[in-house]
Amino acid sequence: MKQLTFSNKDTMAAIGLGTWKSDPGDVYDAVVEAIKVGYRHIDCAAIYGNEAEIGEALNKVFSDGTVKREELWITSKLWNSAHMPEDVQPALKKTLTDLQLEYLDLYLMHWPVVLKPGTVYPESGEDFLSLEEAPIIETWRAMEALKDQGAVRHIGVSNFSVKKLKDLKGQANHQPEMNQVEMHPLLQQPDLMDYCQSENIHLTAYSPLGSNDRPERLKKEDDVNLLEEPTINQIADKHGCTAAQVLISWGVNRGTAIIPKSVNPKRIKQNLDSAEVSLSGDDMQQIAELDKHRRYIDGALWCQDGNSYTMANLWDE
Ligand code: NAP
Repeated sequence: MKQLTFSNKDTMAAIGLGTWKSDPGDVYDAVVEAIKVGYRHIDCAAIYGNEAEIGEALNKVFSDGTVKREELWITSKLWNSAHMPEDVQPALKKTLTDLQLEYLDLYLMHWPVVLKPGTVYPESGEDFLSLEEAPIIETWRAMEALKDQGAVRHIGVSNFSVKKLKDLKGQANHQPEMNQVEMHPLLQQPDLMDYCQSENIHLTAYSPLGSNDRPERLKKEDDVNLLEEPTINQIADKHGCTAAQVLISWGVNRGTAIIPKSVNPKRIKQNLDSAEVSLSGDDMQQIAELDKHRRYIDGALWCQDGNSYTMANLWDE
């Protein structure tokens, strides 16, 4: 399995298991199965509402000797309603308690968007704080303190543009080491990749299979089903593998981490086996031509009447 190496030489397996929308009731078996077949990287978040059940699964695989804690890479994320500096440590504590862990390998700021403390999802523009009221750097300072305490090994961000990364880097004491963003052949983000590579910021590609199980409110009529994309399927036929495996192999080939979500044992294994699929330069070139800069998770939920967030200032484009 290809690994991403951090500046302190820690390594993270390139293919991880996504857990958004993995229901309590399914996620325990999914995580146990994934670790049994060889996954060593699990992507979690407080807002997914399933960290307590993932914690049960982790407890099982540690106690039955399948893996040791230090063999796993566990990521979690600070939700938008916990950006006030005094809320950051309690948020991590809840995540660690739920996951039954003493430390995280990576803690990410989930979005560059702030919800008022106590809000889970916004119902109106009133539920937000602006980035002037709750500056990213102040949240980041609280995350830096968690790293200094050893409660998290690495810190990073998610859904950040080049502009927001530059702003943060200009003020940070501990540099962001990861940016987790939506990334797949329809949203290749070459400028973000170039910038991150030049600044030693790793990228993790989320929704790499097109997130077909995303909530209905996030779907648009003209959305393309990535798993049915003809070029991807032609390449899959040529290699005798599935479209999902081509999509995952593409991400690994570009040097990013990639975190396909599945709760189905066959697909969990199939996704990990993508590491064996070797795409040619010609395959990569054909896929490069599919880019449409098209998001499935476009952040429109954060841009409501009466708040300061717009699609333009969210993505800085
Ligand atoms: P995804 O991984 O692109 O797609 C998940 C969907 O694909 C599910 O319906 C899954 O169904 C299906 N699937 C999985 N493997 C398959 C295969 N081999 N063949 C066919 N279908 C397959 O979507 P995602 O969950 O949006 O993204 C992945 C992870 O990224 C999330 O779970 C989460 O951890 C992370 N994420 C982070 C953010 C962020 O803001 N940082 C946003 C979105 C996602 P089954 O489960 O039934 O297999």
